[in-house]
Amino acid sequence: MSRLTGKTAIITGASRGIGAAIARRFAEEGANIVVNYSGSQDKAEAVVAGIAQSGGKAIAVKADVADADAVKSLADAAMKEFGSIDILVNNAGITRDNLMMRMKEDEWDDVINTNLKGVFLCTKAVTRQMMKQRAGRIINIASIVGVMGNAGQANYVAAKAGVIGLTKTTARELASRGITANAVAPGFITTDMTEKLGDDVQSSMLAQIPLARFGAPEDVANAALFLASDEASYVTGQTLHLDGGMVM
Ligand code: NAD
Repeated sequence: MSRLTGKTAIITGASRGIGAAIARRFAEEGANIVVNYSGSQDKAEAVVAGIAQSGGKAIAVKADVADADAVKSLADAAMKEFGSIDILVNNAGITRDNLMMRMKEDEWDDVINTNLKGVFLCTKAVTRQMMKQRAGRIINIASIVGVMGNAGQANYVAAKAGVIGLTKTTARELASRGITANAVAPGFITTDMTEKLGDDVQSSMLAQIPLARFGAPEDVANAALFLASDEASYVTGQTLHLDGGMVM
C-alpha cells in the first residue's frame, strides 16, 4: 500500500511548478488527482498524461480560485469523478511586485484575490464533504515572506501572512471533525515564478540560505506529502518552513 492509496486530492494551480510536482508526488503514492488550472489547458493535460503513463489517475479541471462559482464546480467535478475529497492543496498563487508607494490598487486586489481569497473559497468548497467524511487534509502553500516581510511585495506578503492565520483558524474550526490544516512556507524554489527575478536578486537570496542552494518543487512536494499522510495525523495548525534554513 502506498501512503495515499484511495484518497482524492485537489491541487490548485497544478499545471506547472510546485503544484505540478505535488500532483505527481501524490499520484506516485496512489492518490487520485484533480489538476486544477486557470491558464494553459495543454500544460494541465500534460501533467494528467504523465500521471496516467505512470499508472495513476488524474483529471484536469479549469477554475479560477478567486471565483466562487468556478471553485464550487471544481469540487463538484472531483466528487463526480472520484466520489470523495480527502486532500486539498491550496497552491495557486501569483506575484505583482512593486514598491508600496507605486503599487496600484489592481495589483493589490489581484494578489489578495488569488492568493488569500482563493484559499478561503477553495477551503469552503471542500469543507462540507470533508466534514461528512469526518476526515480531511488541507495544506496551504504560504511563503516565508509571510513571516519575514519583503520589500516590493506588500500585496503578496499580506496575502501569505493571511494564509498562515487562515490555516490556524481552519485547524481550530475543523479539528473536531477529523480535519487537519497546515501550511508549508517555502523560501526560494526554482520555478517560473522565481526564474523571472534578476541574477542580482538571486545571488543575494542564495547568500542568505544556510544550505546554500535553492529549493526544488519536489522539496515542497515531499513536505506536502508528509502533511497529507497518516504520519501527520497529530499535526495541525502548523507552518513548516521549507527554506534551506533562511528563517530560524
Ligand atoms: P508558478 O507561477 O510556477 O505556478 C503557479 C500556478 O498557479 C500556475 O499554474 C498558475 O496558472 C496557477 N494560478 C495562478 N492564478 C490562478 C488562479 N486564479 N486560479 C487557479 N490557478 C492559478 O509558481 P510556483 O512557484 O509553482 O508557486 C506555487 C505556490 O508556491 C504559490 O502559491 C507561490 O506563492 C508559492 N511559493 C512559491 C515560492 C517560489 O520560490 N517559487 C516561494 C514561496 C511560495
